[in-house]
Amino acid sequence: MEDEISREPRHLGRALCIITGASKGFGRTLAFQLSCLLKPRSVLMLVARTTEQLNQLKEDIITLYGGQNQLDVCCVQADLEKKEGVEKTVQAAKETSVSEMDHLLLINNAASLGDVSRFALTFTDPVEVNRYLSLNISGALSLTAGVLQAFPRHLGLRRSVVNISSLCALKPFPSWVLYCIGKAARDMMFRVLAEEEPDVRVLSYAPGESLDTDMQLQARRSSGDLQLRRSFSSMF
Ligand code: NAP
Repeated sequence: MEDEISREPRHLGRALCIITGASKGFGRTLAFQLSCLLKPRSVLMLVARTTEQLNQLKEDIITLYGGQNQLDVCCVQADLEKKEGVEKTVQAAKETSVSEMDHLLLINNAASLGDVSRFALTFTDPVEVNRYLSLNISGALSLTAGVLQAFPRHLGLRRSVVNISSLCALKPFPSWVLYCIGKAARDMMFRVLAEEEPDVRVLSYAPGESLDTDMQLQARRSSGDLQLRRSFSSMF
């Protein structure tokens, strides 16, 4: 196994790499990590709603690498809960030009925790529930579908899609009903995709429960289940 891993190329090729939810937290860190794995003249596309944070990240990446990796970093301000946000992101991807691109990499990282202060029986309003599902399930599916359609299978193009998952896809957490539904559905969505599109490399990756991000802060402060809240606090 170790041999197999070490034989993998240590770069991601000349790529169009799209990271959703790149403005902060795990997505921001991923953007830094991936920038140095992309071959010169790749495009790194950073997607989120907050323009200032995206622009700051772009500046920080350029400052760090001083343009030496000839990376084109572009920011897309988009709300992926909305159809327009998904369409805008797909359109922006179509408009990029990566000459001799050999890798399309989409990382579906954007997500929200939802209201974790309440228990399942309080979610009587389907509008509220649908709004949550709209970003965390529908947005991820339609963005992935749109991007894969925009860059269809062809010789010499590697296509990879990543779903940032969670233990909550497998394990029920009391007071986290929306988040658990979203992550479980996304895992299955990507499993179906892997069956349907065998040329696409599909990965669901759960980064662990203790990323010190705003999402974690919300988990520690707001979880309705007291035991869960305590356990997040002690992990912190
Ligand atoms: P975070 O700090 O809350 O960041 C979430 C990111 O998603 C932000 O960049 C946010 O940017 C973006 N986002 C939220 N709503 C959006 C929308 N409607 N449209 C577009 N972008 C949106 O979360 P994180 O902790 O870094 O989590 C990143 C991923 O890791 C998530 O998929 C999460 O489920 C997963 N994860 C996290 C942990 C953890 O312990 N933190 C554990 C396991 C898995 P804007 O607000 O600027 O739009």
